[in-house]
This record gives sequence, structure tokens and C-alpha cells, in this order.
Amino acid sequence: MKADALHSSSARNRKGPVRTCVGCRAREQATGLLRVVAVDGASVPDPRGRLPGRGAWLHPRPECLDRAERRSAFPRALRVPGPLDLGKVRSYLAAYGEAQQEGVGTVPAPSFTEDKVDPS
Ligand SMILES: [Zn+2]
Repeated sequence: MKADALHSSSARNRKGPVRTCVGCRAREQATGLLRVVAVDGASVPDPRGRLPGRGAWLHPRPECLDRAERRSAFPRALRVPGPLDLGKVRSYLAAYGEAQQEGVGTVPAPSFTEDKVDPS
């Protein structure tokens, strides 16, 4: 009888926890994935990992979001009964993608062009 394989929990993941992307099902360091939680029937991006509850993990890429949406991966991963609104995650990814393209680490604020009234 050998039971010691179950006893010793491996300390192999020195670089941190590994999670599975709910979109493409690839395994990835948690630091390379976006955590998503369910709040009031909507999925909310949680890039800092601060929100309580179950988390689903996703590559910050529109392709992975689309795949997850098509397979209803978020309600399943987050254990909620109904479909989840993905608007917040989608807009987060859009802003994230733009920030990546511009080479800046922060999400830029949208630039509004105001029609100023010309006094003359
Ligand atoms: Zn993915």
C-alpha cells in the first residue's frame, strides 16, 4: 500500500498559481490571466484579484472572451444559474488592448471632443 503520493503536496509551481483560461482552455500563470467574478448577474473584471467569491480566468484577449461566451463558460465556471452580462469584461478588454498597442501600462481615459461655443 502506497499513500505517500497523496500526502506530499508538490511545491513545483514556484512561479505562482496556474489557472485555466475559460476561453481557450490553455493553462497559464495566473498573472497572465484576467480574473472575472460574478456580481449581480454581470461578470466583472477583477484585475487586482480583490473581489470575493469564485473567479473565472481568461486571457485578456477578445478571442478568448468570444469562445468563453459561445460555450457559456462563465456561468459554468462561476456556478451561477443564468447567462452573465459580459459588457464590463468586453469594454475592459477593449481598453486593455488599446493600452497594449500604445505601449503604456495603464488604461487611457477616453478622449471626448467637446464642441466649444465660439463667443465671436
Ligand atoms: Zn485563452
